[in-house]
Amino acid sequence: TDVGAHLDRLIRDVPDFPEPGVVFKDITPLLADHDAFTTVVQALADVGRDEHGAPVVDKVVGMEARGFILAAPVALALGAGFVPVRKAGKLPGPTHAVSYALEYGEATLEVHQDAFDDGERVLLVDDVLATGGTAAATRELVERCGATVTALAVLMELSFLPGRAAVGDLPLHSLKTV
Ligand code: IMP
Repeated sequence: TDVGAHLDRLIRDVPDFPEPGVVFKDITPLLADHDAFTTVVQALADVGRDEHGAPVVDKVVGMEARGFILAAPVALALGAGFVPVRKAGKLPGPTHAVSYALEYGEATLEVHQDAFDDGERVLLVDDVLATGGTAAATRELVERCGATVTALAVLMELSFLPGRAAVGDLPLHSLKTV
């Protein structure tokens, strides 16, 4: 497909970043290409539409930081609001917080307590699904606010990590699996 070709051409492997042994998927070449960025945003937005093309979500959540870049234009394409999920200490208002284990140590994500109305339908958007810790914590945050996560859309899923299992019964749409 068009989307697949763009992703193959414009996501770059960077060995040993951010630490030795890790191959980092760098999406900046994709973002710099208007046609590719547009095509990819449309494909992610389609995850938030029904079979007739009508939007079925009220809010789109982006996870700091690359998720913001993708989720904001997806929200606009769907006529939905955008909500940031941020690392601890960045949001100014009262927040919910969820901590989860990393390979070394722990990370905490936060969302504003008033970011959603009860029962709102929410699409999560990020660039890469790796262990799934970020996505699972984000889903928990949204649900603590009384909203419902309907799906997770990512550019790329790393199939050698247990991300798909970590998101459990949440429908996962990856534009590319490596
Ligand atoms: P997880 O929580 O292990 O699934 O990691 C996913 C989070 O880490 C996402 O927010 C990604 O943006 C980031 N991430 C992990 N690996 C990569 C990568 O290779 N490229 C870009 N982002 C990555």
